[in-house]
Amino acid sequence: MVQVDAIKAFDDNYIWVIKDPTHSTCWVVDPGDEKPVLDYLSQHNLTLEGILVTHHHWDHTDGIAPLLSCFPDLTVYGPKNGKYQGITQPLVEHDSIVLAGITLNVIATPGHTLDHICYVNNEIAFTGDTLFNAGCGRLFEGTPEHMWHSFSKLLTLPDTCQVYCTHEYTLANLTFAQAVEPNNHAIAHYHQQAQALRKANRRTVPTTIGQQKAINPFARAAQPDILSHTPKQFIQAKDTPEARFAALRKWKDNF
Ligand SMILES: [Zn+2]
Repeated sequence: MVQVDAIKAFDDNYIWVIKDPTHSTCWVVDPGDEKPVLDYLSQHNLTLEGILVTHHHWDHTDGIAPLLSCFPDLTVYGPKNGKYQGITQPLVEHDSIVLAGITLNVIATPGHTLDHICYVNNEIAFTGDTLFNAGCGRLFEGTPEHMWHSFSKLLTLPDTCQVYCTHEYTLANLTFAQAVEPNNHAIAHYHQQAQALRKANRRTVPTTIGQQKAINPFARAAQPDILSHTPKQFIQAKDTPEARFAALRKWKDNF
């Protein structure tokens, strides 16, 4: 079983470390800052083999060039045709990669950015800024339709699949989730758990696909009554999962 560890970066980013238990090597996902990665490697006596990139934003990529100057042979996986120029192994949907003894499949998940990809298998998913615990990334480049379609792909993963997203936005997301569904006991219950975790300075990530189906309003846009507490000005004429997702995203942007 692969081991995944977290390196904290900036205010609320996690740089995920995929450790090969049989070797003293590891991979990192979205290193926006090289310093905490280099500290982690020396503390744990690990060699960096490569990097996985989900999308081009600076807080996911700025550490790559400095890491390459320390480890010139690094493999840098990332989206083909993205805006970040430092990818050595460009990937598209349906590609798969093998690292640290596991296979990860690439799915295209446009929405937050157009180049966004996720790395998934039935046990783990690295979802970058697409699927957050109880939320979703802002739509900087894509449309609500893009993001709903991307979410739908992630929601086909097994309920037990562990979801590793990049940001610790969970408490703010849960405040919004409770506004969307004030009578959803799963959200209220999990909000209390997450508050206790954060108070103890512990992570709320990873989560699971099953949990997201229960508490994440954006993952629940297929529920016909999901907008029953949404202010009218955000609701669209159509009543489809995409339109409900769009309404929720617009409300969250103004929440
Ligand atoms: Zn981003």
